[in-house]
Amino acid sequence: MTKPLRVLIVEDSEPDTELLLRELRRGGYDPQHVRVETAEAMRAEMTSKEWHIIFCDFSMPRFNAFDALALLCQIGLDIPFIIVSGTIGEDRAVTAMKAGAHDYILKDNLKRLIPAVERELREARMRQDRRAKEEEIERLAYFDPVTGLPNRFYFQKSVSQAIKSAQGKHPLALLLMDLQRFKDVNDTLGHHRGDALLQQVGMRLKSALFTPDIVARLGGDEFGILLPRLTATEDIEMVVEKLQDILMVPFMVEGIPIAVEGCTGVAIMPDHGDDPDRLLQLADIAMYRAKNLASNYALYSPEYDRHSPEKLGLMAELRDGIDQNQLVLHYQPKIEILSGSVVGEEALVRWQHPRRGFLSPDQFVPTAEYTGLIGPLTYRVLNDALNYCRDSGNASTQLPVSVNLSARSLHDHRLLESVWTALQARGVEPHQLTLEITESAIVLDPKRAEESLTGLNRMGIRLSIDDFGTGYTSIGSLKRLPIDEIKIDKSFVTGILTDRDDATIVRSVIDLGHNLGLRVVAEGVETKEIFDALASFGCDEVQGYFIARPQDGASMNDWLRESSWKTDSGK
Ligand code: C2E
Ligand code: CA
Ligand code: CA
Repeated sequence: MTKPLRVLIVEDSEPDTELLLRELRRGGYDPQHVRVETAEAMRAEMTSKEWHIIFCDFSMPRFNAFDALALLCQIGLDIPFIIVSGTIGEDRAVTAMKAGAHDYILKDNLKRLIPAVERELREARMRQDRRAKEEEIERLAYFDPVTGLPNRFYFQKSVSQAIKSAQGKHPLALLLMDLQRFKDVNDTLGHHRGDALLQQVGMRLKSALFTPDIVARLGGDEFGILLPRLTATEDIEMVVEKLQDILMVPFMVEGIPIAVEGCTGVAIMPDHGDDPDRLLQLADIAMYRAKNLASNYALYSPEYDRHSPEKLGLMAELRDGIDQNQLVLHYQPKIEILSGSVVGEEALVRWQHPRRGFLSPDQFVPTAEYTGLIGPLTYRVLNDALNYCRDSGNASTQLPVSVNLSARSLHDHRLLESVWTALQARGVEPHQLTLEITESAIVLDPKRAEESLTGLNRMGIRLSIDDFGTGYTSIGSLKRLPIDEIKIDKSFVTGILTDRDDATIVRSVIDLGHNLGLRVVAEGVETKEIFDALASFGCDEVQGYFIARPQDGASMNDWLRESSWKTDSGK
């Protein structure tokens, strides 16, 4: 039985070609051959047909073995290449082997031809198998079997590389797209139709992008898109729109039309950082946010953090944290400038988390506001602060305590009753308690705020507007609300010596407050210079690191005992 062999012969001599073919036939092969003698002809043959083996004369009038090897290498094919030539000398033979020839056979000694052909075909097959295996391994490691797109691992690597090469030169965007209601498709039409849909979605997304953009399937119905070379961040919205548009046309899966909509979250380097994992996380947070807003696109913004899955996970733990006494109160004294005495203290909550350590309120209070946990948190803080107030002296030496109330709590219809019960249970006088409400909480729903505040005021509780200056409260509403004090936000206080606008704002807030008969407190007072400036502006009270940092109850008692500020309880 003869073995078919597709042979490309690079040779200018017809008789030599015949000799070669005869030898092959004698070795049991059935050669199908084409003879070429120029580079152009060789290129044409190699790119249009498949060859098992190439025989090449060492030198021809218009071509030679080195050029032929270079051409082979350039086309990128791995085909056994055997030089069949007259004597060329050992040196040149070695050079030719180094250039990529597999063997060298003398025309007048063709005995070695068949064993060489057999060996080279065998080795070429082995090389091919190995390459196929390597490709398969790579495919499994880097590509998603369902869509054939790069997988999460590949995507992460690409993002890292893109960040390195974009560094400082141009922005880069990372998009995370989730298909809305994909789970329904999967559940109602079955997994294999779900897979078919994912495949088509992947293809469409890819078709809408250009190199070097990358689209990958990250798992489930989640696709990652990397735009490694943005010229301007405004381009992102255009890309997102294009991607949404391309998904608009219903998909046909086995004759069933399926409508798909994507929800996309975007993070940008350098705006949102340059750590690949972090950017992915932020894009995820943005996507999550877009979903909550029933929108199909959101660019990451730090304020979305409170809605992130990470933060919501933290909330699940907060419930236990409240029950298991993991919330700790720190206290910060308030000083009356004129008398130099301590006139109160503000309770500030911290969370001693069993694994994450000490968490500041900014890390969990804003999220708690959105999850219904703000109620239990507020009452916990209120009760602990009142306990501290009761235990810190007798009725005449007790220092008033300030507790922060969230916007939500202000709209809790049990607020009045709960506060009243908490005071009664401890025998603390209502005027010993100040509730601080942020300006923004009032702006949110002025009518409800007015109702709650009026009720609290009737009970004799003092009321303070916190972070004043940041929320655009109208003077009209300030006049109408039964409040006792305003706290100038620390962002203005910090700048009074360096920023003329800040100084003007602080001065006018103090005047405004006094005209309305309110006490004015400056928070965030960090230096003596600022303290003195506030004194010269006529500010009533101050609070800040210059006086004392917030500290736990026991340290606060020590501080009160040792402080050079006047305390009624001590000296
Ligand atoms: P806030 O009510 O404006 O509290 C003042 C914040 O400024 C505190 O941060 C305090 O530690 C910090 N601070 C005090 N003096 C200085 C100073 O001289 N310089 C600077 N740079 N900062 C100073 P903290 O304790 O991290 O609290 C942050 C915010 O968390 C509070 O702002 C408040 O809005 C909220 N919060 C704290 N505890 C509670 C709570 O029990 N309930 C509610 N709803 N919110 C709370
Ligand atoms: Ca406060
Ligand atoms: Ca404040």
